[in-house]
Amino acid sequence: MAEKNIFQRIIDKEIPAQIVYEDDQCLAFRDISPQAPTHVLLVPKRPIPSLADATAADGPLLGHLLLVTRKLAEQLKLTGGFRVVINAGADGGQTVYHLHFHVLGGRQLTWPPG
Ligand code: 5GP
Repeated sequence: MAEKNIFQRIIDKEIPAQIVYEDDQCLAFRDISPQAPTHVLLVPKRPIPSLADATAADGPLLGHLLLVTRKLAEQLKLTGGFRVVINAGADGGQTVYHLHFHVLGGRQLTWPPG
């Protein structure tokens, strides 16, 4: 059997994480190496390796993740604004192949990203 990736192990509660939100479809927890005062990762429980692998059948789940992101921004008091990042594939800088949204805030973020 293929080895579980780190996010699947967090979802399965095999390794600890600072969980900030959970429902039947997704889990949000603080990034271990935060790039902003608030840096949360939102992951679907259904394992989709990358946004590049998403299909039309994933549409409702992807919509749910966006709405949870909005709720998270409120819960985490990102009143000044926030950024949502999905790194996809090698050029996108993806390192963990379990789809995840980075939710960043708490400081003025710059553009373009590196
Ligand atoms: P990617 O580069 O794939 O877009 O993002 C992966 C993210 O996962 C990185 O921001 C990295 O800091 C975070 N990360 C990697 N391993 C762990 C871990 O074990 N726990 C937590 N909470 N975050 C992790």
